[in-house]
Amino acid sequence: MTPAHHSVKFDKKLIDTDALKVVKTLIKNGYEAYLVGGCIRDLLLGLQPKDFDIATSATPEQVHKVFKRSRIIGRRFRLVHIMFSARKYIEVATFRAGKVKTSNMGQVLRDNFYGSLKEDVFRRDFTVNGLYFDIIKSQVIDYVNGFEDLKASKINIIGDATERFEEDPVRMIRAVRFKVKLDSELTNEISKNISINAHLLKNIPPARLYEEVIKLFHNETSLEIFKELLKFGLLKFLFSQTKESPFIDSTLINTSKRIKNGDSVTPAFLFAVFLWDAQNKCFESKNNKNKNKNRIELMIMASDEVIRKQIQQIMMPRWLSNRVKDIWLMQHRLENCNVKKATELISNPRFRMAYDFLLLRSESINPELKERAKFWTNLQK
Ligand code: ATP
Ligand code: MG
Repeated sequence: MTPAHHSVKFDKKLIDTDALKVVKTLIKNGYEAYLVGGCIRDLLLGLQPKDFDIATSATPEQVHKVFKRSRIIGRRFRLVHIMFSARKYIEVATFRAGKVKTSNMGQVLRDNFYGSLKEDVFRRDFTVNGLYFDIIKSQVIDYVNGFEDLKASKINIIGDATERFEEDPVRMIRAVRFKVKLDSELTNEISKNISINAHLLKNIPPARLYEEVIKLFHNETSLEIFKELLKFGLLKFLFSQTKESPFIDSTLINTSKRIKNGDSVTPAFLFAVFLWDAQNKCFESKNNKNKNKNRIELMIMASDEVIRKQIQQIMMPRWLSNRVKDIWLMQHRLENCNVKKATELISNPRFRMAYDFLLLRSESINPELKERAKFWTNLQK
């Protein structure tokens, strides 16, 4: 199979200079090296890539030898991180062959079999993510018709959808994310297979899904992604206790706006909103059964129960679940406390998040709280 080569001119400002340096250094040391994946896809669309990935013929040990400030990391695969500052690194992956070791559920267990560029292409997920950029020739190398699919706004899977989703069910969520992000259509094969295979998400470790969930909702199109996840029946395998609600709509619109403006966002807020309805229902049912227990005690019992159920699907680090509980527990105080207590509450480090939460409730599911929200807004002036 011969690949298509497309000569392209990328806007230099959009390409990370450190990533270019890494590719050049690897080539100078006699290895093949390319920019690959999402960054090429985004550059072709004129978008600023989130990160720059590099694929090379050098093994992790060889890469590590070339770059002093690097370390080999081994999560699912062995990769090299080349450090440029305390917070910034460039990820380098060795070409991998398609031979994968799978569990009897079809999931990838290990695929550390090094290969050639040509083999590396076919372990990638979608054709638009299977493009390599040769910086010397300024050419995109395309084995899978990704270049044309990108132009046609088509998300097409590399290989057989059933097999690829069984091998790694996370690809179903990725398909939905790219559909929305790239304003594209999924092929019929993908759409059909997601509906059939959504349940396979049950087999993915909660820690991995945590990372994916952040990617799903911390972006500028999070509401649309949420709706698509619902439509494809994927949401219930991520958040079984979450239903569609105007509160979630408002929150996701707000999150996207904040990201667009460069404001900070936290997953605690997201989880608190997604689980708020479940928390209330759980509290109500406990309240009906335990007339002699106090409110706070019941709220804590309910939040523990709701969170315990959620972490069976998606991991929540301890700091995160604590913050979610803080937001929930502060709502009652924000709704009811007197002016003297209110001034105290404002200096609580969790106040701002709890206030934002109340504000969004008042704008969506609890219009009766509008006055109260105004009170807090004014108090902070
Ligand atoms: P973005 O960074 O915008 O989320 P991306 O495509 O760069 O999108 P990454 O998670 O950074 O996504 O992955 C980089 C590349 O690695 C992808 O473009 C794809 O080629 C490959 N890849 C990532 N995850 C998978 C997967 N689950 N299965 C197969 N290939 C994958
Ligand atoms: Mg990326």
